[in-house]
Formats: sequence, structure tokens, C-alpha cells
Amino acid sequence: MILAFGFFALYEIVEAPRSGAFEPVVTHGSGRAIALTFDDGPTRGVTDRLLAVLEREHVPATFFVVGRAARREPGLLRRMAADGDEIENHSDTHVHLNMLLPGALNAELDRADATIAAITGRRATYLRPPFGARNAAVLDAARRRGMQVVLWSVAGGGPPIGSFTREEDRRAYAEELAARVDDGAIVLLHDGDRGRGDAEELAFQAEAVPYLISALRSRGDRFVTVSQLLAAR
Ligand SMILES: [Zn+2]
Repeated sequence: MILAFGFFALYEIVEAPRSGAFEPVVTHGSGRAIALTFDDGPTRGVTDRLLAVLEREHVPATFFVVGRAARREPGLLRRMAADGDEIENHSDTHVHLNMLLPGALNAELDRADATIAAITGRRATYLRPPFGARNAAVLDAARRRGMQVVLWSVAGGGPPIGSFTREEDRRAYAEELAARVDDGAIVLLHDGDRGRGDAEELAFQAEAVPYLISALRSRGDRFVTVSQLLAAR
């Protein structure tokens, strides 16, 4: 119990998006727009289905990709770029960057960045450290590369109890999430699981996206990429 509380307290200090332990990072935009962001992919069978939805609905998104996953699925990155989605840095192997020595930290950022640049011809401008874990060294490494650290204001929760195969389950999940999304929100969802090639139990977040889009649109929200959201501030 004490141990559990200790880990929770440590998370609040070091990893929570609004932690005050380090200089502030971006967690929120403003205006009547929402940025949907997807972490940990791309994942075959998950990201391609998600992209089909985003393309059909004309919803731009921001993907914080894991370098090792991007190397496995370069075609999915090209498809994101072709549709106007932003492709940003979520490290190379999805580790706690705040635990690394400088050489390993630099390699995590540079390998992911080089992968994104080789596939898309464009360098990442944002870094989202895995788990939100950051410290002065991580923030400094991002700054030296001209990358802004972007976290999130609202995150999709865990899978609902039981099966997630029924349409009403996806709709209920999306509506619960939509109720927590406010103006200028940066919404964290997943289209992968730490870049491992199988989204496992996180795939349901991508499956709920059609319902999330319609829930947010029905109340007048529009969708933008992170850079569009931050340009409006
Ligand atoms: Zn992640």
C-alpha cells in the first residue's frame, strides 16, 4: 500500500502532464478545436484501419510514432503524411527517457528522428516522452534539437470490462471520453503498444475513434493537428 502510494506520488511528480517539478510543457491548446493524437504505433492492422477512418472523415491527426515501429511500417508513415497528418517523435524503443545516460538519451531521440526524416522527408518538431517521463536532461535534449515537448490534456482510459466487440461498448467509451474533452484539448489515444508490433488491449482506443469523431462533431468541435492547435494560441 505504501509502496503503491509511493509510485503514485512519484508519477505525479515526474510524469503527470501538469507536474510542476520541471519547466512547463505543452498540455493544452485553446480555441474551439481539438487535436487527436495517437501514440506507440504504427501497428499493422490497427493504424491502417484508423487511417481509413481519418481519411474518410477528413480529420487530421498527430501521430507520436515509435522509431522501431516506424521502420517496420514505413508505408503507414507515408500514408499519414499524404493525408496531412503530423508525424512526431515518441522515442525509438519506448523507454523511460528520464532514466537514461546522455548517450542513450540522444540515441533514442536521434534514431527516431532519423527514421521519420528518412521515410517522410520531414523532421519531427515535437517530442512526447514515453509515459510523459521527463527531467531537465530530456527537456534540454529536446530543446537542442528544436523540438517542443508536447504531452496531453485528456487521455483515453483503459478498456471497458468484458468484451469490446459490441458497437454500443465503443460508443459508450467514446461518449465518456468526449465528455472529458474541452476546448483546445490535446487528446491522447493509442494505435500501438510501445511500438511492439501488436496493439494488444490498446487497439480498442483506435476502434472507438469513429464514435469519438461523431460525438465531438455533433457538439460543434473541429479537428486540427497539434501544430495548428498551437499556432492558434
Ligand atoms: Zn507511449
